[in-house]
Amino acid sequence: MKRSAVVIGAGLLGTTTAWFLAQRDFDVTVVERRAGPGLETSFANGGLLTPSEADPWNAPGTFGRVLRWLGRENSPLLLRPRALPGMLRWGWCFLRASRPQPHLRSTEATLRLALYSLATLEALDRELALDYQHLHCGTLKVFRERRGLLETRRLAERLRPQGLDSRMLDRDAAVALEPLLADAAHNLVGAIHYPHDGSGDAYLFTAAMQRHAAAAGVRFQFDTEISRMQADGHSIRVLHSNCGEIQADVYVLAAGSYSPMLTRPLQLSLPIYPVKGYSLTLQAAPGRQLQVPVVDFEQKIVIAPLGDRIRIAGTAEFNGYDTADNTARSSACLRQALALLPKLADAAAGEGKVTHWTGLRPMTCDGPPILGATPYTNLYLNTGHGPLGWTLCAGSAQLVADIVAGRPPAINPEEYCLNRFNS
Ligand SMILES: Cc1cc2nc3c(=O)[nH]c(=O)nc-3n(C[C@H](O)[C@H](O)[C@H](O)COP(=O)(O)OP(=O)(O)OC[C@H]3O[C@@H](n4cnc5c(N)ncnc54)[C@H](O)[C@@H]3O)c2cc1C
Repeated sequence: MKRSAVVIGAGLLGTTTAWFLAQRDFDVTVVERRAGPGLETSFANGGLLTPSEADPWNAPGTFGRVLRWLGRENSPLLLRPRALPGMLRWGWCFLRASRPQPHLRSTEATLRLALYSLATLEALDRELALDYQHLHCGTLKVFRERRGLLETRRLAERLRPQGLDSRMLDRDAAVALEPLLADAAHNLVGAIHYPHDGSGDAYLFTAAMQRHAAAAGVRFQFDTEISRMQADGHSIRVLHSNCGEIQADVYVLAAGSYSPMLTRPLQLSLPIYPVKGYSLTLQAAPGRQLQVPVVDFEQKIVIAPLGDRIRIAGTAEFNGYDTADNTARSSACLRQALALLPKLADAAAGEGKVTHWTGLRPMTCDGPPILGATPYTNLYLNTGHGPLGWTLCAGSAQLVADIVAGRPPAINPEEYCLNRFNS
């Protein structure tokens, strides 16, 4: 008889995990509180598939920058003082993980998962002929200051033997790759092209995976919110929801930023903090579409072509579970994008031309996600993907499905396990 599995959450991670579990002969149900798949953080993210962004945000020196930005509404990273009491333990771990050695270790672990993930995504594309406006032309990271360029170049060279390909470009070569940069190119000191990065619409992908999973027999129970996981000794016995009790042989928690709330009553602490980000989506004017996604290193924003739309995303705000659209921050995001690509101004001008969105990145304190087993024998995790959940989605989902099914995983899962926080 087939073993049954319940996946909590139908974002990028839960939906894709459900697909891989069904392929491993599980009888799968996905439980999601929203009315459909991908309606929370996976809805309107930056769209980038970027192994090149494997280095976690707590690079050595970040703390000083965070202090300088404290309270500045338009800074790339904003820490609201009222959020501080709720993030002391997480913050301490974030700081400890920002020492050079741990930071490099996290970067390398994330890169391995990201490269595996893009290979897994390519295989899914071939198998299912998915349509999510996938581009394979790499990403172009641009720099206004030499220091950032040199540091990033050093890291890129260090990661080259591990599979991260990159090409240094001067200003003219960057404009040749992305002609819309021409007007602001005089502000740039150089750029790096990462040819194996990509982009695509994470929501379209999630929705397509949901349709394929449903066709493969996965049941999706929408409008169903899990209020509590009830344990019996060392295993989970039942889930309580607004639609009654739900039982299965195994459970996979993929509830993004809300995962810690469900594990806390089980005395299981997940060091995940919700980091708010913003995105803006506009219709590209005729002849004014980007050729390649652009990452603005100093402003920490990304600008990506998604079909005939343009997605601008970025900024990080530590303010608990608040998802309100702070117009000072979203306007700053738009202004910075237009300063880099002034030709997009027409597309953004006028009432109702820009769709605003916010989402909560489920960020672990050391960078990599948390994948696999827990002290509860039938509870598994696929969560904590922070700013890289789209990039890491396919690989994480396949890895977790392999672990649940008892198959040998394709990459070493130890670097992503929950136990790492105990050492
Ligand atoms: C502004 C921004 C830009 C980003 N840009 C990129 C990018 O360019 N590239 C990249 O790789 N990543 C990017 N990310 C990160 C990426 O979007 C996330 O890591 C990813 O979406 C997380 O997916 P998830 O499935 O874990 O979470 P979610 O998409 O939030 O899914 C979790 C699901 O669980 C459900 N849920 C929660 N609690 C319960 C409950 N109790 N009962 C039932 N259901 C529940 C929620 O409703 C939700 O649908 C970005 C994020 C943001 C905010």
